[in-house]
Amino acid sequence: MEHFEYNPKSLKADEFISHNEILESLKYAEENKNNRAVIDAILAKARLEKGLTHREASVLLACDIPEINEQIFALAKQIKLNYYGNRMVLFAPLYLSNYCVNSCVYCPYHVKNKHIFRKKMTQDEIKKEVIALQDMGHKRLAIELGEDPINNPIEYVLESLKTIYSIKHKNGAIRRVNVNIAATTVENYTKLKDAGIGTYILFQETYNRQSYETLHPAGPKHDYAWHTEAMDRAMQGGIDDVGIGVLFGLSTYRYEFAGLLMHAEHLEAVHGVGPHTISVPRLRPADDIDTDDFKDCINDDIFSKIVACLRIGVPYTGMIISTRESKKTRERVLQLGISQLSGGSKTSVGGYSEPEKEEPNSAQFDVIDNRTLDEVIYWLLEMGYIPSFCTACYRAGRTGDRFMELCKNKQIHNCCHPNALLTLQEYLTDYASPATQKIGEEMIAREVATLAPQTQATTNKWLEMIKSGKGRDFRF
Ligand code: SAM
Repeated sequence: MEHFEYNPKSLKADEFISHNEILESLKYAEENKNNRAVIDAILAKARLEKGLTHREASVLLACDIPEINEQIFALAKQIKLNYYGNRMVLFAPLYLSNYCVNSCVYCPYHVKNKHIFRKKMTQDEIKKEVIALQDMGHKRLAIELGEDPINNPIEYVLESLKTIYSIKHKNGAIRRVNVNIAATTVENYTKLKDAGIGTYILFQETYNRQSYETLHPAGPKHDYAWHTEAMDRAMQGGIDDVGIGVLFGLSTYRYEFAGLLMHAEHLEAVHGVGPHTISVPRLRPADDIDTDDFKDCINDDIFSKIVACLRIGVPYTGMIISTRESKKTRERVLQLGISQLSGGSKTSVGGYSEPEKEEPNSAQFDVIDNRTLDEVIYWLLEMGYIPSFCTACYRAGRTGDRFMELCKNKQIHNCCHPNALLTLQEYLTDYASPATQKIGEEMIAREVATLAPQTQATTNKWLEMIKSGKGRDFRF
């Protein structure tokens, strides 16, 4: 493999995700994973809650000393609480089209799959899906599409965004749409920005160029540099908030972990702001995909350790978990650093308004957590979390570096906390089952009491207005 000098400020994929630097970091981590002096120094720095370098965080990930791991998990929990409190933001994925010209070896949307049911929704069908999502209580979506310039051109994405934002059914509204579409041009990213998207999300899948090229043997996604440099183009196009991630199971997890942190360091070095979120999807079985074919799949213990080390490595970056994970696993990692989760998800095209056919269906992967949104909300409340449907920061222009400033100064608590309670009240009044309503009202009463007097008074006024139907969408 060609040698590239590591340079986080470079705009070339092979320089900011330097293969050599990752190998050196993993070697350093392996050599020091039992070195108490090095680990203590890293933990002392981590306790300042300002983050770690990819190399330092890699040492913590490699370390297998039980009492150090206990400290790592405890610190991750503490950082999570200090930055994000007990709030959990909820969203749902919305699959618009599964037409795809790529050949991703792990994804059933690959072009050679003639068995999967292909579907692209019309604007009327999207409307039905959005109404179904609003009737569940969702306010924030992530739209998902396969890559197909003929079937899914940017114009289709833009038109769909307009449709989604325009629908106001009963008290419902979709207030933030994040977009997960294939790497595209600066010009197209500007169009997405102008259409009012929230975060632009693109998973790297794997940072290992060799694995990447094997796993994407043909199609536009085969181009590693085009894909890896996408976030730079998105930011050049004016998108403030980008979300990165890898698909764990495709390559060795320590390599991916270092790559994720290097990508975050690169975005910070070049654009002055790191990723808004990091997602941690794990490979799932799907239509013609068997996870047994992938030797790098990781177990729950390693997965939890990754989440904890990411939380410590980049304390101010949101972390997302999907319904690819079970209730039990989600329970475990929520406390270690997750700040956003999906609920009531369907991964098929049109799956919210119409029950999915058994075979052949259009789903991207098998969901493990099949609970309804109301069941997820009840479960979160029972564990002491505040389910939040808040979208205030993005709508008040607190995006990119302005959001990060707030977050780095641990200030998100002051506005996010009452905003979370207000959106929870909307959910309880409009959509919740009686049991969820009861436990939710108790949570709100407890939490409002902790607010500063002025904020408390305004929050109480707005809560009353929501309950009596006099208004919605209040925010600090
Ligand atoms: N087509 C877009 C692209 O090229 O980036 C992304 C949309 S795709 C619907 C969203 C993500 O699902 C992919 O980036 C991939 O990481 C993940 N995915 C694909 N196959 C999967 C599988 N079998 N199990 C779990 N996640 C999978």
